[in-house]
Amino acid sequence: MATVLCVLYPDPVTGYPPEYARTGLPLLTSYPTDRSMPAPTGPLGFTPGELLGSVSGELGLRNYLEGLGHQLIVTSDKDGPESEFERMLPKADIVISQPFWPAYLTRERIAKASKLKLAITAGIGSDHIDLKAASEAGITVAEVTGSNCISVAEHVVMTVLALVRNYLPSHAISVDGGWNIADCVSRSYDVEGMDFGTIGAGRIGLAVLRRLKPFDMRLHYTQRHRLSTEIEAELNLTFHPDVKSLVQSVDIVNLQVPLYPSTEHLIDEAMLAEMKRGVYIINTARAKLVDRDAIVRAVEAGHIAGYAGDVWYPQPAPPDHPWRSMFYNGMTPHIAGTSLSAQARYAAGTLEILQDYFEKKPIREDYLIVEAGGLAGTGARSYQLT
Ligand code: NDP
Repeated sequence: MATVLCVLYPDPVTGYPPEYARTGLPLLTSYPTDRSMPAPTGPLGFTPGELLGSVSGELGLRNYLEGLGHQLIVTSDKDGPESEFERMLPKADIVISQPFWPAYLTRERIAKASKLKLAITAGIGSDHIDLKAASEAGITVAEVTGSNCISVAEHVVMTVLALVRNYLPSHAISVDGGWNIADCVSRSYDVEGMDFGTIGAGRIGLAVLRRLKPFDMRLHYTQRHRLSTEIEAELNLTFHPDVKSLVQSVDIVNLQVPLYPSTEHLIDEAMLAEMKRGVYIINTARAKLVDRDAIVRAVEAGHIAGYAGDVWYPQPAPPDHPWRSMFYNGMTPHIAGTSLSAQARYAAGTLEILQDYFEKKPIREDYLIVEAGGLAGTGARSYQLT
């Protein structure tokens, strides 16, 4: 019998289940890339469209796991040595966590997790796990690659428009009973004709570029490997050999690279100084890609016109985190990749990983981050251990 320790975000303050705005989800049968969607066998254990990512949703896993005689422990209490997560960790064979409410698996915690064999990220981005320590401890790390790429790409498009059009302050004025149009439009522009650049044009970054193409913006990207000439021609892309060249050229900078040791603080004070005055920055990737306080200073100085981030460090962010009250911010708690639509996909992918693990079948290469003492599958392409 295995003990599965699952860390999920708290239920809605109004109780579970919530009142859903719609019934069901559109039926999708494929991702826009060549990757196939999660394909667990047997019943799903949930109805797509339900809230699965909070504690009572249990990712729809209870019947499957208990049907096999395993124990499922679900908690949102994850921080500090007295947390339920840390107390239960020595008993856990499998840990499941979501990047939105990450159960940080540090080297110290991994040392306490003597039975741990598998750590699953229900979603994309396993930087909340010390991957080097996990590989040294022989733990397999897997995530549901592809599951929420379009969810995040849609969020990026939304925040580009929200910042440039000054949507959020204008909406607040209308809610507050105001009608001062000049206050709304004094910072409002069209995106048409602007230069948009993404640092990272992988699954999400490329989906963002494709979605912004119809807005008649000039599109730029940088990453270590160039996209195909067909894709560059289709989207009329300008490739930049490095981050500095890209940020000097664009009006909107989008961050879409994984966080690993050498991408930490990719955007620091010096890189911000290379950007045009009035730049907008979108960061749905990871907070530590940027220097938190340098962003605040650049916004206060009027150098950055707006910063829309979906990601913070740590998560949950403390109430006094300076990005909460920073001018011209379009911050959200980490939600981009956990729409009800995304949850159905990554819950199904988590079930598929568990089924493969318990049936002693290989986990899809696409889902692997760490295996057999080193980076593997998607992990070998996306991460570096140093
Ligand atoms: P991919 O691996 O498909 O894309 C990442 C891209 O970044 C690759 O194309 C890679 O290209 C590029 N890259 C990696 N390192 C560097 C570097 N040092 N300099 C420049 N480019 C680099 O990942 P996804 O698009 O699926 O996801 C990206 C990130 O988005 C995730 O790691 C995660 O942190 C975040 N995310 C956030 C979510 C949310 O809810 N907010 C949900 C899902 C993901 P190359 O190797 O050629 O450099």
